[in-house]
Amino acid sequence: MTRNKTANEIADCLEQLRWILGSYRTAGFLDWQYRPRKSHDEVQPAAVSQADEKLCRINSELTGCTRCRLHSGRNKLVFGEGSAESGLVFVGEGPGFDEDRQGRPFVGRAGKLLDKMILAIGLERRQVYICNVVKCRPPDNRAPQPDETAACSPFLFRQIEALSPKVICVLGLSAAQALLGNSGPISKLRGKVLKWRGIPLICTYHPAYLLRSPSQKAAAWQDLKQVIKLLMA
Ligand code: URA
Repeated sequence: MTRNKTANEIADCLEQLRWILGSYRTAGFLDWQYRPRKSHDEVQPAAVSQADEKLCRINSELTGCTRCRLHSGRNKLVFGEGSAESGLVFVGEGPGFDEDRQGRPFVGRAGKLLDKMILAIGLERRQVYICNVVKCRPPDNRAPQPDETAACSPFLFRQIEALSPKVICVLGLSAAQALLGNSGPISKLRGKVLKWRGIPLICTYHPAYLLRSPSQKAAAWQDLKQVIKLLMA
Protein backbone atom coordinates (compact mmCIF):
# COMPACT_ATOMS: atom_id res chain seq x y z
CA MET A 1 0.00 0.00 0.00
CA THR A 2 2.73 2.44 1.08
CA ARG A 3 4.96 1.37 -1.80
CA ASN A 4 2.05 1.93 -4.23
CA LYS A 5 1.46 5.37 -2.82
CA THR A 6 5.17 6.24 -3.17
CA ALA A 7 5.22 4.92 -6.73
CA ASN A 8 2.18 7.05 -7.54
CA GLU A 9 3.81 10.10 -6.03
CA ILE A 10 6.99 9.50 -8.05
CA ALA A 11 4.95 9.00 -11.22
CA ASP A 12 3.12 12.25 -10.47
CA CYS A 13 6.40 14.12 -9.96
CA LEU A 14 7.83 12.71 -13.18
CA GLU A 15 4.79 13.75 -15.14
CA GLN A 16 4.98 17.24 -13.71
CA LEU A 17 8.66 17.39 -14.60
CA ARG A 18 7.83 16.30 -18.13
CA TRP A 19 5.35 19.16 -18.54
CA ILE A 20 7.82 21.66 -17.12
CA LEU A 21 10.78 20.40 -19.15
CA GLY A 22 8.56 20.51 -22.22
CA SER A 23 8.11 24.21 -21.61
CA TYR A 24 11.85 24.80 -21.26
CA ARG A 25 12.63 22.79 -24.38
CA THR A 26 10.45 25.01 -26.46
CA ALA A 27 12.61 27.46 -28.36
CA GLY A 28 12.08 31.00 -27.22
CA PHE A 29 10.70 30.10 -23.84
CA LEU A 30 14.00 29.12 -22.31
CA ASP A 31 14.71 32.51 -20.75
CA TRP A 32 11.20 33.73 -20.62
CA GLN A 33 9.11 34.12 -17.57
CA TYR A 34 5.63 35.48 -17.90
CA ARG A 35 5.01 38.57 -15.83
CA PRO A 36 1.37 39.00 -15.02
CA ARG A 37 0.08 42.51 -15.72
CA LYS A 38 0.82 43.07 -12.08
CA SER A 39 2.29 40.40 -9.92
CA HIS A 40 0.10 39.06 -7.17
CA ASP A 41 2.05 40.95 -4.54
CA GLU A 42 2.41 44.21 -6.46
CA VAL A 43 -1.25 44.68 -7.29
CA GLN A 44 -2.59 48.08 -6.32
CA PRO A 45 -5.50 47.68 -3.91
CA ALA A 46 -7.69 49.95 -6.09
CA ALA A 47 -7.01 47.88 -9.23
CA VAL A 48 -7.85 44.66 -7.44
CA SER A 49 -10.93 46.00 -5.80
CA GLN A 50 -12.66 47.01 -9.03
CA ALA A 51 -12.60 43.55 -10.58
CA ASP A 52 -12.94 41.84 -7.22
CA GLU A 53 -15.89 44.01 -6.27
CA LYS A 54 -17.67 43.07 -9.48
CA LEU A 55 -16.89 39.40 -8.89
CA CYS A 56 -18.14 39.65 -5.31
CA ARG A 57 -21.39 41.20 -6.52
CA ILE A 58 -21.92 38.46 -9.11
CA ASN A 59 -21.07 35.81 -6.53
CA SER A 60 -23.53 37.25 -4.05
CA GLU A 61 -26.32 37.10 -6.66
CA LEU A 62 -25.74 33.35 -6.77
CA THR A 63 -26.19 32.86 -3.04
CA GLY A 64 -28.89 30.24 -2.52
CA CYS A 65 -29.39 30.00 -6.30
CA THR A 66 -32.34 27.84 -7.42
CA ARG A 67 -32.34 28.88 -11.09
CA CYS A 68 -31.84 25.32 -12.32
CA ARG A 69 -32.27 21.76 -11.05
CA LEU A 70 -28.57 21.43 -10.13
CA HIS A 71 -29.20 23.32 -6.91
CA SER A 72 -30.99 20.30 -5.44
CA GLY A 73 -27.82 18.19 -5.23
CA ARG A 74 -25.52 21.04 -4.29
CA ASN A 75 -23.28 20.87 -1.28
CA LYS A 76 -21.27 24.03 -2.10
CA LEU A 77 -21.59 26.41 -5.01
CA VAL A 78 -18.29 26.72 -6.88
CA PHE A 79 -18.01 30.29 -8.14
CA GLY A 80 -14.35 30.38 -9.23
CA GLU A 81 -11.08 31.60 -7.81
CA GLY A 82 -7.72 33.10 -8.59
CA SER A 83 -6.15 36.34 -9.65
CA ALA A 84 -8.24 38.95 -11.37
CA GLU A 85 -5.02 40.53 -12.64
CA SER A 86 -3.15 37.84 -14.53
CA GLY A 87 -4.99 38.23 -17.80
CA LEU A 88 -5.62 34.49 -18.14
CA VAL A 89 -8.90 32.74 -17.39
CA PHE A 90 -9.46 28.98 -17.60
CA VAL A 91 -13.07 27.90 -18.08
CA GLY A 92 -14.07 24.33 -17.27
CA GLU A 93 -17.37 22.49 -17.38
CA GLY A 94 -18.71 22.26 -13.85
CA PRO A 95 -17.78 21.10 -10.36
CA GLY A 96 -17.18 17.42 -9.64
CA PHE A 97 -17.35 15.57 -6.33
CA ASP A 98 -14.29 17.21 -4.73
CA GLU A 99 -15.17 20.69 -5.97
CA ASP A 100 -18.72 20.37 -4.62
CA ARG A 101 -17.30 19.38 -1.22
CA GLN A 102 -14.74 22.17 -1.07
CA GLY A 103 -16.48 24.98 -2.98
CA ARG A 104 -13.37 25.44 -5.14
CA PRO A 105 -12.85 24.72 -8.86
CA PHE A 106 -10.52 21.99 -10.15
CA VAL A 107 -9.29 20.54 -6.87
CA GLY A 108 -9.73 16.84 -7.76
CA ARG A 109 -7.64 14.63 -10.07
CA ALA A 110 -8.34 16.73 -13.15
CA GLY A 111 -7.46 19.79 -11.09
CA LYS A 112 -4.06 18.34 -10.20
CA LEU A 113 -3.35 17.96 -13.91
CA LEU A 114 -4.57 21.50 -14.57
CA ASP A 115 -2.15 22.72 -11.89
CA LYS A 116 0.68 21.00 -13.79
CA MET A 117 -0.45 22.52 -17.07
CA ILE A 118 -0.41 25.97 -15.47
CA LEU A 119 3.03 25.34 -13.98
CA ALA A 120 4.25 24.22 -17.40
CA ILE A 121 3.51 27.70 -18.80
CA GLY A 122 5.52 29.30 -16.02
CA LEU A 123 2.63 30.33 -13.80
CA GLU A 124 1.25 29.26 -10.48
CA ARG A 125 -2.38 28.43 -9.96
CA ARG A 126 -2.94 31.52 -7.80
CA GLN A 127 -1.78 33.73 -10.70
CA VAL A 128 -4.60 32.74 -13.04
CA TYR A 129 -8.37 32.70 -12.68
CA ILE A 130 -10.25 29.39 -12.84
CA CYS A 131 -13.99 28.97 -13.17
CA ASN A 132 -16.67 26.79 -14.72
CA VAL A 133 -19.72 27.13 -16.92
CA VAL A 134 -22.09 25.80 -14.25
CA LYS A 135 -21.46 26.57 -10.62
CA CYS A 136 -23.19 23.53 -9.13
CA ARG A 137 -22.26 19.90 -9.60
CA PRO A 138 -24.15 17.98 -12.27
CA PRO A 139 -25.14 14.55 -10.86
CA ASP A 140 -22.82 11.63 -11.67
CA ASN A 141 -20.43 14.11 -13.28
CA ARG A 142 -22.56 14.29 -16.40
CA ALA A 143 -22.21 17.25 -18.75
CA PRO A 144 -24.49 20.19 -17.95
CA GLN A 145 -27.75 20.14 -19.89
CA PRO A 146 -28.60 23.04 -22.22
CA ASP A 147 -31.13 24.63 -19.83
CA GLU A 148 -28.62 24.40 -16.94
CA THR A 149 -25.95 26.04 -19.09
CA ALA A 150 -28.45 28.68 -20.19
CA ALA A 151 -29.33 29.46 -16.55
CA CYS A 152 -25.72 29.75 -15.40
CA SER A 153 -23.81 31.11 -18.39
CA PRO A 154 -24.95 34.75 -17.96
CA PHE A 155 -23.02 34.66 -14.67
CA LEU A 156 -19.98 33.19 -16.42
CA PHE A 157 -20.18 35.91 -19.07
CA ARG A 158 -20.33 38.65 -16.43
CA GLN A 159 -17.46 36.97 -14.56
CA ILE A 160 -15.29 37.04 -17.69
CA GLU A 161 -16.26 40.62 -18.47
CA ALA A 162 -15.36 41.65 -14.91
CA LEU A 163 -11.97 39.97 -15.29
CA SER A 164 -11.43 41.43 -18.76
CA PRO A 165 -8.70 38.86 -19.49
CA LYS A 166 -6.12 38.96 -22.26
CA VAL A 167 -6.77 35.30 -23.07
CA ILE A 168 -9.48 32.76 -22.31
CA CYS A 169 -8.47 29.10 -22.26
CA VAL A 170 -11.48 26.87 -22.73
CA LEU A 171 -11.23 23.37 -21.24
CA GLY A 172 -13.42 20.90 -23.08
CA LEU A 173 -16.57 20.91 -25.13
CA SER A 174 -19.14 22.14 -22.58
CA ALA A 175 -17.19 25.35 -22.01
CA ALA A 176 -16.59 25.75 -25.76
CA GLN A 177 -20.31 25.38 -26.44
CA ALA A 178 -21.23 27.84 -23.69
CA LEU A 179 -18.89 30.49 -25.08
CA LEU A 180 -18.98 29.78 -28.81
CA GLY A 181 -22.32 28.06 -29.41
CA ASN A 182 -22.55 24.66 -31.05
CA SER A 183 -19.39 24.77 -33.06
CA GLY A 184 -18.21 21.18 -33.38
CA PRO A 185 -15.84 18.91 -31.45
CA ILE A 186 -12.80 20.22 -29.55
CA SER A 187 -10.51 18.50 -32.06
CA LYS A 188 -11.86 20.94 -34.68
CA LEU A 189 -11.87 23.99 -32.41
CA ARG A 190 -8.37 23.65 -31.00
CA GLY A 191 -5.23 24.81 -32.75
CA LYS A 192 -6.56 28.24 -33.69
CA VAL A 193 -7.20 31.56 -32.03
CA LEU A 194 -10.93 32.18 -31.71
CA LYS A 195 -12.65 35.13 -30.05
CA TRP A 196 -15.30 35.65 -27.42
CA ARG A 197 -16.65 39.21 -27.40
CA GLY A 198 -13.34 40.35 -28.89
CA ILE A 199 -11.17 38.46 -26.37
CA PRO A 200 -8.75 35.87 -27.84
CA LEU A 201 -9.83 32.37 -26.89
CA ILE A 202 -8.01 29.05 -27.15
CA CYS A 203 -9.84 25.75 -26.88
CA THR A 204 -8.06 22.71 -25.55
CA TYR A 205 -8.88 19.29 -24.16
CA HIS A 206 -10.38 19.03 -20.70
CA PRO A 207 -7.83 17.73 -18.14
CA ALA A 208 -10.23 14.88 -17.24
CA TYR A 209 -10.11 13.80 -20.90
CA LEU A 210 -6.30 14.08 -20.88
CA LEU A 211 -6.19 11.74 -17.88
CA ARG A 212 -8.12 9.18 -19.93
CA SER A 213 -6.25 9.90 -23.18
CA PRO A 214 -2.68 10.86 -22.26
CA SER A 215 -1.63 10.67 -25.92
CA GLN A 216 -3.50 13.96 -26.44
CA LYS A 217 -1.26 15.78 -23.96
CA ALA A 218 1.11 16.76 -26.78
CA ALA A 219 -1.76 18.52 -28.56
CA ALA A 220 -2.78 20.23 -25.31
CA TRP A 221 0.79 21.42 -24.93
CA GLN A 222 0.62 23.04 -28.38
CA ASP A 223 -2.53 24.83 -27.25
CA LEU A 224 -0.85 26.05 -24.06
CA LYS A 225 2.01 27.47 -26.13
CA GLN A 226 -0.57 29.51 -28.06
CA VAL A 227 -1.96 30.72 -24.75
CA ILE A 228 1.49 31.93 -23.64
CA LYS A 229 2.06 33.69 -26.96
CA LEU A 230 -1.20 35.56 -26.62
CA LEU A 231 -0.41 36.48 -23.02
CA MET A 232 2.97 37.84 -24.06
CA ALA A 233 1.63 39.78 -27.05
N1 URA B 1 -14.04 19.50 -14.01
C1 URA B 1 -14.46 20.74 -14.35
O1 URA B 1 -14.86 20.99 -15.48
N2 URA B 1 -14.43 21.68 -13.41
C2 URA B 1 -14.01 21.47 -12.18
O2 URA B 1 -14.02 22.40 -11.38
C3 URA B 1 -13.57 20.18 -11.86
C4 URA B 1 -13.58 19.20 -12.78
